[in-house]
Amino acid sequence: MSLYLGIDFGTSGVRAAIIDGGANIRARSRRSFEVSEPSKRANYWRQVLFGLLEEIPQQLRQEIKSITINGTSGTVLLCDRNGNPLDEPLMYNDNRSASVLEILKKLAPAKHTVLSATSSLAKLLWMSQLPSFSQAKYFLHQADWLAFLLHGQLGISDYHNALKLGYDVEAFEYPDWLQSLQIPIQLPQICAPGTPISQIRSELAFEYGLSPNCLICAGTTDSIAAFIASGANSPGEAVTSLGSTIAIKLLSRTRIEDAKYGIYSHRLGDLWLAGGASNTGGAVLKEFFTVDELESLSHQIDPTQKSDLDYYPLLKAGERFPINDPNLAPKLEPRPSDRVEFLHGLLEGMSRIEAQGYELLQILGADRLTRVYTAGGGAANDTWTDIRRHHLGVPMIEPNNSEAAYGSALLAMAGSMM
Ligand code: ADP
Repeated sequence: MSLYLGIDFGTSGVRAAIIDGGANIRARSRRSFEVSEPSKRANYWRQVLFGLLEEIPQQLRQEIKSITINGTSGTVLLCDRNGNPLDEPLMYNDNRSASVLEILKKLAPAKHTVLSATSSLAKLLWMSQLPSFSQAKYFLHQADWLAFLLHGQLGISDYHNALKLGYDVEAFEYPDWLQSLQIPIQLPQICAPGTPISQIRSELAFEYGLSPNCLICAGTTDSIAAFIASGANSPGEAVTSLGSTIAIKLLSRTRIEDAKYGIYSHRLGDLWLAGGASNTGGAVLKEFFTVDELESLSHQIDPTQKSDLDYYPLLKAGERFPINDPNLAPKLEPRPSDRVEFLHGLLEGMSRIEAQGYELLQILGADRLTRVYTAGGGAANDTWTDIRRHHLGVPMIEPNNSEAAYGSALLAMAGSMM
């Protein structure tokens, strides 16, 4: 039997999914991430990765033909010539590099994706000021380094992880402005996500009972792996993630970019995955309701009726997408005494924002929205789905799967057939 392993290094846990050639799940495992001391973080990732391999039943391990790892987008580290991490990795949301943003604005084209305090390039510039930088040879994303541990090749990344490093995913090269920065480090060589890089290191194959022919493929980011898992694959198909915040991704034949709204497009084969994220979402619901209340009160809402409330639910002032206003105030008044009515207003407000987001992507040139898959904690709420269907005016589809590990396993399968 041929099996394919996807590993998802998320922000709070690591998950693995093993699928067979029919894309059926054969095994799963997960481990929670303990918050570790920053200086020990990379070492901890290594332990968790190998621990996860050990958890896979022996008879399945030897059948694995390929492995793909997705990492958290924007989590990066510097390594020496042997791939040993120097200093702590910088996590996706680390914004210490805000201090180099003014410099970066003078170097990168206006509105470029790298012009954010948490972009990989901003992080690299910030790291270049550290004393340890003199020993640095490679700059890698989390997924690149973890894959390196398995295949042993340094300096390789994929064009999903490398988008925020400034790699030109249309021309397949580092642009001139980036090369002219002459940062004295080896920027990763970029492959299509899922491309087989090399067979697993022979000593690892021996130690973990894996096939010596097992291929390690180029990785991707967590949110793209989750998109791939959903099954959405045609222009006009979209995935909304109803997590703490609401993120939308629309598959399109056109590439859409607008830094003002935080909109950018990832390449997905011959198509583009245009996306944006609002600050509204489940975190606001959690502020007012328990998960049990969300469930029971939602059942009492009539989704065919319009709420009289006109909310813009935010935890604090500031929104980027679909309205770009760092001072946009939350709108949560008037507050009815009836909690069912209040929840109705919140779900409706969020549905309106989601619909406005898709409208903005289409105004900017993305393909017409045809159907929406839903992932995240809010996907379980059928009342919300009904309200959303009304606002979006397209069929709402349940994803095949919403686990990033499954999406990475699909990439591994595709990679093994390249
Ligand atoms: P994240 O990974 O962004 O933290 P999750 O995808 O785990 O988010 O989803 C968690 C969110 O889902 C919480 O903020 C919670 O408010 C929301 N949520 C959980 N259950 C429901 C429900 N039945 N209806 C609406 N939202 C829900």
